[in-house]
Amino acid sequence: MKKLFAMLIVAALMLSGIAALAEKGTLTMCTNVAFPPYEFYDENGQPTGIDVQIAKAICAKLGYELEIVDIEFAQCIPGVQSGKYDFSAAGMTVTEERKQMVQFTDTYATGIQSIIAPEAATFESIDDIVEANGTVKIGVQMATTGDLYSTWDYEDEGKGTVDRYANGAAAVQALLAGKVDCVVIDNEPAKNFIAQNEGLKILDTAYAVEDYAMAFGKDSAIYADFNAALAELIADGTVQGIIDEFIPAE
Ligand code: GLN
Repeated sequence: MKKLFAMLIVAALMLSGIAALAEKGTLTMCTNVAFPPYEFYDENGQPTGIDVQIAKAICAKLGYELEIVDIEFAQCIPGVQSGKYDFSAAGMTVTEERKQMVQFTDTYATGIQSIIAPEAATFESIDDIVEANGTVKIGVQMATTGDLYSTWDYEDEGKGTVDRYANGAAAVQALLAGKVDCVVIDNEPAKNFIAQNEGLKILDTAYAVEDYAMAFGKDSAIYADFNAALAELIADGTVQGIIDEFIPAE
């Protein structure tokens, strides 16, 4: 009995020791897990995708556990800015405005804004819709670059309205329901959404190529080590290998 008791104490001490270590060694990543192929849930309900696998590789290299927190994209920058999360990897475009709020790692991927439209649509651009109807209703994911550009180029110009959804999938559902004329979203998620839903097609936009990077709070203590590890994984081809896994060559 005494022996058992002693063993239990040892086990409890060991467990609390492991817990303390894990606590110290966990990095929290915030992202919106509805942005395939960068982040989505696999068939077992686990987050995966390009961002997730790169973040995992960096954490493994640095000896950290990775915890992924699924939030709205609009909350990712405020979340790292306030220190609530260690970093955000969310197919996030580097912009001058965002650089005022967070610090970005090296860029590891690129994106381009695309327009998702009904397959039967005869227009080739958002301007075509404005020309034909005098106005346009654009669906976007709130606080994304697609939201910013659509707002600047159409809403602010008095050419139409922008409907902002919590995530890209919700914007696509609104398009399928006929609530918006088109959806502006990054090209790789756009490809995934049209593959998953019938009756949609992709148009290109005039918007330029964007660089994706991970975002950290400005006073992050882990930023330098994390970025150095990312740079190594870019240099040794690991990052490209992960991208190729999720974006099959055309
Ligand atoms: N690349 C876009 C942006 O940074 C969209 C990112 C996202 O929706 N996860 O605004």
